[in-house]
Amino acid sequence: MVDIVAGPDSYRDLSRLLAVTNYGENAINVQLSLDETYGDIQPVRENPQTKQAYVSIMRGCENMCTYCVVPLTRGKERSRPIDSILEEIRILSDQGFKQVTLLGQNVNSYRDKSESTISMIHATSTVTGFKTVYKPKSGGRTFDVLLDKVSEIDKDMRIRFTSPHPKDFPMEVIQLIKERNNICNQIHLPAQSGDNKTLDAMGRGYTVETYLNLVDQFKKEIPNIALTSDFISGFCSESEEGHQKTIDLIQKVGYSFCFVFPYSMREKTKAHYRLIDNVPEDVKRRRHQELKATFREQSLKFNQNLIGTEQVLLIETLSTKRSETAIGGRTDNGVKTIFEPGTNNYAVGDYVKTIITSATSQTLQAKIL
Ligand code: SF4
Repeated sequence: MVDIVAGPDSYRDLSRLLAVTNYGENAINVQLSLDETYGDIQPVRENPQTKQAYVSIMRGCENMCTYCVVPLTRGKERSRPIDSILEEIRILSDQGFKQVTLLGQNVNSYRDKSESTISMIHATSTVTGFKTVYKPKSGGRTFDVLLDKVSEIDKDMRIRFTSPHPKDFPMEVIQLIKERNNICNQIHLPAQSGDNKTLDAMGRGYTVETYLNLVDQFKKEIPNIALTSDFISGFCSESEEGHQKTIDLIQKVGYSFCFVFPYSMREKTKAHYRLIDNVPEDVKRRRHQELKATFREQSLKFNQNLIGTEQVLLIETLSTKRSETAIGGRTDNGVKTIFEPGTNNYAVGDYVKTIITSATSQTLQAKIL
């Protein structure tokens, strides 16, 4: 028996919904708001064991990738006011947090158009060669402005962000990553496929050539950048040749990590109405395994290239599965690393300078310097 169905944007309506049930009625509010950003809510973080926090900066997405249900479940893009984000991060800094990840469905379309910033003029800019279904947007403060201000709050706090869509990745953000030591050298750049026919069917707005061109620009500016990505195996009508092109892309880019998923059609998406989910399940599973094996080879190469380099780790855990005494941390570019602390006393959130001694596809081992 369910009394209340409350959607993600209905929290301000909870008292009314509860009142309705007092009269023996069922209550429901699953409407998506056009402007709700949770901007005036300061989350309570109760886990004293962590020094990392996720900070929501925007909600919704208007890209309408044909396989994706997010635009239907989260609604249109709306950005949280910049002042409220900066305030939350200042509080986190005062509380001793050492890493913040800025979160949004499409962070680089962030655009704060709240009253205090409405006069700032920033037109929509799409990376050369990429297409968008957006209507042009202007005004407000964009993601690079936010990132600039966030990174100034606490120079000892690492800043990450996820997820950006490749089509509107501002080069100003790359410059900031290059210039600011506390913005991590890691970018999640979801490709989804390495096959132009599949990318077109997905409605991603780019070809594999434009994607690779963007990757080349990133690597030219920041040679040691770690790139991660998402891939879908067995999307509608994906051919064996198309699948092979995705394998080729993973090898060319040399990602440090990939999230790969076998395609599963979602109701009400464009693909559900217009395309046929016609790749057999066993083929999807086989391709999924092949993508995983390919990215793991690349992850291993990426990690092996770090052997002998000095890395500053941010300690995340004082215990690991591999050893009773080892401590776990993460490099600036996002690779899990374990090391033996010896007689030193460390706490979660400490930084420690190390040299990398060995690598697997998932983890590095290090020694304290
Ligand atoms: S896949 Fe990402 S960019 Fe595409 S519609 Fe979904 S949330 Fe938006």
